[in-house]
Amino acid sequence: MTVGIVGAGQLGRMLALAGYPLGLDFLFLDPAAAPPAAQLAPVLKNAFTDAAALADLASRCEVVTIDWENVSIAALTKLRRQTRISPPPAAIATAQDRVSEKRLFEKLGIATTRWRAVGTRGQLDAAVRDIGLPGVLKTRRMGYDGKGQSVLRTPADLERAWAEHGSVPLLYEELVPFDLEVSVIGVRGRRGECQVYPLNHNLHAAGILRLTRSPFGNARLNRLARRHVQAVMEHFGYVGVLAIEFFVRRGRLIANEMAPRVHNSGHWTIEGAVTSQFENHLRAILGLPLGDTRARGHSAMINLIGTMPARAGLLRHAGVHLHDYAKEPRPGRKLGHLTVVEATAERCERRARALLAELAPEIHIP
Ligand code: AMP
Repeated sequence: MTVGIVGAGQLGRMLALAGYPLGLDFLFLDPAAAPPAAQLAPVLKNAFTDAAALADLASRCEVVTIDWENVSIAALTKLRRQTRISPPPAAIATAQDRVSEKRLFEKLGIATTRWRAVGTRGQLDAAVRDIGLPGVLKTRRMGYDGKGQSVLRTPADLERAWAEHGSVPLLYEELVPFDLEVSVIGVRGRRGECQVYPLNHNLHAAGILRLTRSPFGNARLNRLARRHVQAVMEHFGYVGVLAIEFFVRRGRLIANEMAPRVHNSGHWTIEGAVTSQFENHLRAILGLPLGDTRARGHSAMINLIGTMPARAGLLRHAGVHLHDYAKEPRPGRKLGHLTVVEATAERCERRARALLAELAPEIHIP
């Protein structure tokens, strides 16, 4: 049984690593020369929008899924005549556009930031008048890891941000003085059954996730997040794994964005949960029973960004699980991650702090 994956990045690679024990095969589509999943499975080396290549992928696979949400929805929708597409293209389309995402959160009663769509310089002035400063100007599409966004603090920042981003549709929103950031990851199967992982506590630096600790938060916060992710999955008749990122302010959840795929803040589930997010995504899209999402202990996941530390140095630490994505180093690029799983939250926290102090001393953990 072959699973087709559009995008052969580290997420696709970890999906394949989770699928081989289940006896699955994988076929990828990705235009990159040597993407992370190429070490494991064949890759059709074509553009994500190449209709013939997508049709070829669909004809050879039981189901087609994605490891990157910025695929052509029109091209993906056409494949529905040939094979199953999971998650539903409507969910992917919503996640591609920050304005559609905000409207969905509002429709489902999920608190989000105050925002305005911005298409002209005049609309930017009006948005800043309505929402005030400080705020964040973001491209509606193709933003990830803090790319395509600028914080506006003074009226003088408007001109610079407009010059930088004004050529594409934008969204302006309030800068949330959050206490911390969390994410929730849910999975929904073909028969509508749902499982949700415990909350992840995420630390970002320069817009990029650096550290996740899980499980996090009290029962109330977990229940609230669970309700929100279930509402989004129900709305789409979703099949697969879906993540939502939130700011937490005074005990309230404020939705930032969603990802219609396995998520970086869920990498700890490989070693730290009964069933990983990757295996559960495969189980869901293949119509198999979902696996238990409970944590096995307390996990911390640290992203390795920009340069890859020496393997021997990392593995010297007892109990460290190293994931090297086999990517070329580049500033700001996610090259791998480390996970530690400990019996208590205190011990996990101590280890996370010690590892981060060694690997990225410039990052301050509050
Ligand atoms: P995003 O690409 O929207 O997930 O943004 C990446 C990171 O930038 C977030 O995880 C936050 O740390 C920060 N950020 C983005 N938008 C806001 C906001 N409106 N208020 C405060 N921080 C933000």
